[in-house]
Amino acid sequence: MNALPPDVEAVWSSLGQSWSELRGRPDDADLWAQFILRCDKLMSISGEHGLTSAAVAMGPLLNRLESLQAPGPAHLPEIENLLLTIHAALQHPQHHLSEPAGRQTGQSSPLVLLYSADAASGSEIEPHMAQYGLRLERHGDAESVLGAAQAGRAAAVLVDVEQGFDSTVDAAVTEFARLGVPWCAVASQIDFALRLQALRRGAHFFFNAPLTVEALIPVIDPLAFPVKEPPFRVLILDDSRTVLSGIRRAMAPFEDIQLGILSQPHKLLEVLQFFAPDVLLLDIHMQGCTGLEVAQMIRQHKAFESIPIVFLTAETDPKAQNEAMRVGADDLLLKPVATELLYNVLTQKARRYRGLRRLMEEDSMTGLYNHGKTKALLLQLLQQAARLTLPMAYALLDIDHFKRINDTYGHGMGDKVIMSLSRHLRQRLRGTDVVGRYGGEEFALLLFNCSPAEAVQLVDELRESFSKMVHGPTGDRFSATFSGGVAFFPNCQSVPLLMVRADESLYEAKRAGRNRVMAHMPPAALPLAPAGEAGEPAKRHAA
Ligand code: GH3
Ligand code: MG
Ligand code: MG
Repeated sequence: MNALPPDVEAVWSSLGQSWSELRGRPDDADLWAQFILRCDKLMSISGEHGLTSAAVAMGPLLNRLESLQAPGPAHLPEIENLLLTIHAALQHPQHHLSEPAGRQTGQSSPLVLLYSADAASGSEIEPHMAQYGLRLERHGDAESVLGAAQAGRAAAVLVDVEQGFDSTVDAAVTEFARLGVPWCAVASQIDFALRLQALRRGAHFFFNAPLTVEALIPVIDPLAFPVKEPPFRVLILDDSRTVLSGIRRAMAPFEDIQLGILSQPHKLLEVLQFFAPDVLLLDIHMQGCTGLEVAQMIRQHKAFESIPIVFLTAETDPKAQNEAMRVGADDLLLKPVATELLYNVLTQKARRYRGLRRLMEEDSMTGLYNHGKTKALLLQLLQQAARLTLPMAYALLDIDHFKRINDTYGHGMGDKVIMSLSRHLRQRLRGTDVVGRYGGEEFALLLFNCSPAEAVQLVDELRESFSKMVHGPTGDRFSATFSGGVAFFPNCQSVPLLMVRADESLYEAKRAGRNRVMAHMPPAALPLAPAGEAGEPAKRHAA
């Protein structure tokens, strides 16, 4: 099979495993349930990676599985045929990892409109927008800003509400809302009444004037460069097939929910591992054990101790309900539950849980992976690269003379340079690459399925484009550079070795004068094929 993104590969291989088990025991309903769960997962993950042909090929299989009345051996040949088409689609994906890295160029930058009667408003920030891949267009009257918004090009509109909401401003924001263009209020005073007025008219955010790029970017970025959240993974454990299929049907219309269903409690811990749900829906009364016992068991596992648990029960006895909350339930819903309520509770818990995990894994200043998570991902990717015999590169970047930037322009400006570089790296790299903030002004890049030559070229391109960016206020502009050290797998076969070699190369780049990228071996001296294929017996596991 062609090189697939590692997580797609992992799901495909677990699907294969599930299928062999099913062929051995085609009457086992739980095996069918697990198989369906894995198919669901393969479909969503293929979609996330833009593997359109595979995601499309999954459709008929899922429809067929959905419509099976009584799963059993008779269906095996038909399902196997459908699996073969998926296999073929995965071998010829329309979107593939070996595509050149980097964002597409030639696209015009997303547009932000500013609507203000004050002609000077926004002039300070306008020249800085390009650095963030955005454009600002200033409009002084309603007619022209509405024209621009109607042309359908705006990611957001900033509306000066310093004078409150007169009928013209009112009509304009109503029209923005109708067009589906998010709008944000801007005013120098943030009194409660004005905020409330803005909120009631559907304002997305409220900015304090004067506008600054630093305040603007974190709010506008997600609007201008939306990242599709993967659906929330909900796992339901209930021993009643009627309940399970009822919930499956109820949740089917919601695209942001990916449902996993399980009827046997003893399989739960195993399923939790591979399905990694964002929320767990548990029945209280089951054969063999109670939902409360299951919840206690889950809470004893470090990895699952904070996963939200929602009980679904017909139990109306307040004592039993209290007991459920005591063992660590996050919520309790009474059967039969209204679809809307179930959807809201599940998505809310899942969203909060994801937010918490993000806090633990991300650097708060830049939103990049933090040191701990970056290292964990390095080990994970290295193991995948070894298993799939794919090359990967590890690059360490360090801003040059950063102390001087702090000393000359202030710590706050230093922070802005760090944020600019973070954003630059994230925008230019592929979704499958990892960007982490390794420490102060140091960054780590994990470039999966990337040859040494490609990696060095890519890091050098990043270096060059970053060095061309300008920072600082008008009249006091400056630029910054970074140095990089790159190490490769399979040349280096363990996490510590990759880290040491990248660090040594970075040190050499600094010594050689900074603003350059060095690799611990010239890429030309390295075999492009993974170690195993180059004839030498490869050690296949990261230390
Ligand atoms: P070199 O070119 O050798 O890398 O020189 P340098 O000055 O960049 O390196 P050095 O390690 O001497 O200094 C790094 C400085 O970065 C020291 C520290 O105060 C500063 N720093 C670390 N984290 C942050 C941060 O989050 N914000 C700001 N503004 N400064 C930081
Ligand atoms: Mg440093
Ligand atoms: Mg430095």
